[in-house]
Amino acid sequence: MQFSEQGSKNDILYWSKRLYQKDMSPSTSGNISLKTPEGILITSSGVCLNDMNEDDIVLIDYDGNVINGTKKPSSEKIMHTEIYTKRDDINAIIHCHCPLITAFCVAQRPINKPILPDFALIYDEIPLIPYYCPSTIELAEAVGICFEKNNNVALLQNHGVVLGADTLQNAFYQIESLRAYVQTYFGAEVISSAKYLNKKQVAEIRQRYIKK
Ligand SMILES: [Zn+2]
Repeated sequence: MQFSEQGSKNDILYWSKRLYQKDMSPSTSGNISLKTPEGILITSSGVCLNDMNEDDIVLIDYDGNVINGTKKPSSEKIMHTEIYTKRDDINAIIHCHCPLITAFCVAQRPINKPILPDFALIYDEIPLIPYYCPSTIELAEAVGICFEKNNNVALLQNHGVVLGADTLQNAFYQIESLRAYVQTYFGAEVISSAKYLNKKQVAEIRQRYIKK
C-alpha cells in the first residue's frame, strides 16, 4: 500500500480523539506518533488530543529535528525516537496519563496480576520505570532500555504509560484493554479483593493460543 502523509495524519487525528473521548488522555496531556517512510509524525506540544487539526501534527527525524510543520513537536519526542530506534517492529506509539492506569504508577507498583485470561495471555508484567523528570533524555533512555528488552508497554513512575505497537489502531486497542484491566482490578478490590488465575490456568490459556 502506498504511503500517504495525509492518511497517516488522519489516522493520528482519529485515534487521538478516541483516546481523549475514552478519558485516557485528559486536557492537553498525552502524545501520539506514527512512523512513516519520511520520518516520524508526532502530535505537537501543549495541544488537547481532542481538539487537534492536521497542522498540530509535525514530521520529525530520528534526532527529534522538525522536517515539516510549523508547530513545536511534543516535549516527549525523544522518548518516541528512542523507542523507534531500539525497535524496528514498532510503528506507532501512544503516551498518555490515563488516570486509571496512572494510579498504578502513583502507587509505584508494576501491573503483574493475572486476573483475566486475555491479560495473562500477553503479559507477565508491565514494568514500572523509576521516576525521571518528564521530557528529559534520562527518561527517554530508561524507556528505550525497557523497550529494548522486548517490552511493548511500560509504566512511568508518578507520570503515565507508554505503549508501542505495529499500528496505531492496535496501540489504541492495547491501551484500552489495559485500562479495562485496571478498572476491573479496582472494582474487584472494592467488592472484596481481586483473586488471580493460578499458574496452571495461565499455562493453559497460553498453550491454547500460543501467542506471546
Ligand atoms: Zn507524560
